[in-house]
Amino acid sequence: MTMSDDAVSSVRMEDLTKRFGDVVAVDGVNLEIADGEFFSMLGPSGSGKTTVLRMIAGFEEPTSGRIHLGGQDVTGRPPFARDVNTVFQDYALFPHMNVRENVEYGLRVKKVPRKERAERAEAALASVQLSQFGERSPHQLSGGQRQRVALARALVNRPKVLLLDEPLGALDLKLRREMQIELKDIQREVGITFVFVTHDQEEALTMSDRIAVFNEGHIEQVATPAELYETPASSFVAGFVGTSNLLTGAAARSVFGRDGTFSIRPEKITIADSGARARGRVASVVYLGSVNHYLVDLDAGGTLTVLRQNQHGTADQVLAPDQPVGLTWADEHVIDLTPTSGSHQKETP
Ligand code: ATP
Repeated sequence: MTMSDDAVSSVRMEDLTKRFGDVVAVDGVNLEIADGEFFSMLGPSGSGKTTVLRMIAGFEEPTSGRIHLGGQDVTGRPPFARDVNTVFQDYALFPHMNVRENVEYGLRVKKVPRKERAERAEAALASVQLSQFGERSPHQLSGGQRQRVALARALVNRPKVLLLDEPLGALDLKLRREMQIELKDIQREVGITFVFVTHDQEEALTMSDRIAVFNEGHIEQVATPAELYETPASSFVAGFVGTSNLLTGAAARSVFGRDGTFSIRPEKITIADSGARARGRVASVVYLGSVNHYLVDLDAGGTLTVLRQNQHGTADQVLAPDQPVGLTWADEHVIDLTPTSGSHQKETP
């Protein structure tokens, strides 16, 4: 998605840079996030995502560059003078207040009248499906419920932009998956711009309208989940979002007939003897119930992961280690990642 010229973006960053001493945490980030978008910043630990989020919130000032919110330059403004709220991983609920008081707290500070306060807290609790829990104290809630209170406490302020820093990080996998779906539903319902920081690619793919992939302080690619997966702009993105399956050097020359860096996603490769485009031997088999993962060492050098669905369910259809196999794929599934000179930030059109 690209923004039309006259649309005011919800968040806009221009050449945003942050240095901590010698460390360049954020290195010239340019980014526009549309109104009402669920936008994720994805990348490994230390890639600069949190620092960008903290600069949007105003907890950290950029070394250089500008930040615009709703078309206004807010660079240099303190956090309370920005129309954003942040939800952190550790929830930071007040233990001595019940759920309703926690949610109302921000409104009390702003001297919102009691009646309006109660109505807005009620609406915020309803939007996270916690209407029945107002009188409970935080320690009487599950992790997922506490996370929803933290969300309600931010939503009650009706910010234009909600910043979420790994908000599901403390939850177990099952609850995390449930909350991912809930969070997306809540975002759709309230229509607020969500800027979500995560290092979990599955989480980003599940929830986001668009994702920026961070690497060492810069953005490698900004795209929709499907575009990131199907047409990664670099080897880094191909490896961080999904299994990269790279072939380079002699293997690339043998299989593709030229030098370069190529990738084929594991599920796009078929094990077949006739018409094989590469041959090799099964190096290892990982049985995962619904699918099997095969690591295949190619005769040409290099290794490919192949994913095969377990449609028949009989163990004897599982290939054995060392078995020779032929591999084939369609031309359109070959991703050419051969580096070209030029800027490292790409936007998929
Ligand atoms: P994580 O997923 O682990 O939170 P991240 O992608 O959010 O990682 P940041 O927290 O933004 O990464 O950190 C980016 C870089 O800046 C790291 O090298 C980090 O050590 C450094 N950094 C962040 N905050 C500070 C600080 N206050 N002082 C010095 N260095 C910092």
